[in-house]
Amino acid sequence: MCAAPAARRTPALVRALLLLALALAALAAGVAAQRRPPLRARFAPLGDVALIPRLLDAAPLLDHRDSASLLSRILVPRVPGTAASQRVADALLAPFEASSKSGGLGWHIERLPFVAQTPHGKQSMTNLVVTKNPASPRRLTLAAHYDSKIMPKGFIGATDSAAPCAILVDTAMALDRALDAAERRWAKEGSGGDVTLQIVFFDGEEAYEQWTHTDSIYGSKDLAQNWTRSAHSPPHAPLVGAATLSTSRFSMLRPARHIDTIEHLVLLDLLGAKSPQIPSYFHPTAWLHDKVRSAQRRLLDAKAFWPPNESSRSGEDWFNGHSWGGIEDDHLPFLAGGVPVLHLIPSPFPRVWHTMGDDASALDYGTDYGWAMIMRLFVAEYLGLGPDLAATAQPSVRDAAEQARRAQEAQREEQIRAGAAIDVEPQGPRPRDEL
Ligand SMILES: [Zn+2]
Repeated sequence: MCAAPAARRTPALVRALLLLALALAALAAGVAAQRRPPLRARFAPLGDVALIPRLLDAAPLLDHRDSASLLSRILVPRVPGTAASQRVADALLAPFEASSKSGGLGWHIERLPFVAQTPHGKQSMTNLVVTKNPASPRRLTLAAHYDSKIMPKGFIGATDSAAPCAILVDTAMALDRALDAAERRWAKEGSGGDVTLQIVFFDGEEAYEQWTHTDSIYGSKDLAQNWTRSAHSPPHAPLVGAATLSTSRFSMLRPARHIDTIEHLVLLDLLGAKSPQIPSYFHPTAWLHDKVRSAQRRLLDAKAFWPPNESSRSGEDWFNGHSWGGIEDDHLPFLAGGVPVLHLIPSPFPRVWHTMGDDASALDYGTDYGWAMIMRLFVAEYLGLGPDLAATAQPSVRDAAEQARRAQEAQREEQIRAGAAIDVEPQGPRPRDEL
C-alpha cells in the first residue's frame, strides 16, 4: 500500500534530477564553447603573404655562409655542460634579451638547469624556455634541441638541430613587433590573446652511447615531467592586461597543469638540407600539417618563399602524405602527457644524419630561408596576427625607394622654407636652386 505513492514519486524525482543534470551540462558546454572558439575557426588566413619576407631580413640569423650570422655562430660542437654549449645558449637567447631593451614588451626567459643520469654519469644540462606572455592561459610551443652528439668527436649537427634552432629564433624575432602590437590590441579590445607564443630549446636530446629509451631526450623528459607535476601559475601579471587565466583544455574543475597549457607542440628536427619530405605523423594534427603545406604553397605563389636572389628557383612541395610510424624524439614525453604534436622532421632523414658530414656543407640557405617564411606565416595565422603584421612589416624595396624619394623631397621643401624664413646665409655651400 505504502509502496505505490513512493514508486510514483521516485521516477519523478529521478527525472527532475536528470533534467537538472542535463541543463547544467548544456550550460557548462555553452560556457566552454563561448570561452574558447574551436581552433580551426580561430585560424585566420593572411591576405597578403608577400609581406612575410619583409618582416625581418632573415640573412643575419640564417645565412650560414656569413660567419657573423647566428646560425654560423652556433655551428660548433654543443655537448651538454660544456662552455661551448653555454655560449650557444647565450647566442640563442641574446635576440630575446635585446627585444625588451629596444622598447618592445620583451620575452619571459627561463634557463632551467637539471642533472641527468647518463651512461657517462651525472651530467649538467639546461633547457631554455622563452614565452611572449607567460600569463597567457595557453601556448603554441615551438621546439628544437640545441645540444649536439658527443660522438663522433667534433660532430656539429648542422641539421641536427642547429638550423631548426636558428629558424625558431627567426620566427620569434620576425613576429616580435606584431606579437607586441597584438598584445596591446587584445588589451584594448578586452578579448583575444589567450594563446601566446613559446619557444623551447631542449638540451640533452642526443644519446651518450646507443639511443635507448633511457639514454636519449634528457631535456624533454625533464621539462615534461616538471610541467606535469606543476600547476600553471603565471610568474607575473599579464604583459598589458589582456589575458586572464582560464581553464586547461581538459577540465574546468581543477587547476591547469603546466603541460596542459600547451595547445600544440611543434617540434622541428633534422632540417636545413635541400628538398625535405615531411609527412604528417599524427592524425589529430593532420589538419595543422595541411596548414603548413598551404603556407608553403601560398608563399611560392606569391614569390615570397625563396631568398630574393633565388627567386627563379622552381617550386617544391615538402609536405606530402602521412607516416603514422614512431620516430623517437623530444615530442614523446609531451605526447604521453596528452599534448597534440606536429612533428616537422623529414622522412627519410637527411643523408648526412649522425655523420661528420652534418656540418655547414649540408645546409642550403634557400631551404633555411623557405623554412623561416613557412614558420612565420604559420604562426602568424595560428595566432591571428593579421591585423598587426601589415603595420610592422618592413617596406619592400620599391616601397623603400618611394619612401626615400618622399623623404628627400620633404627635406628639400623644409630647406627651401628655412632658407626663406631666415636672413642669415646658412653655413657651407648650398646650391642656388635651393635658396
Ligand atoms: Zn641527432
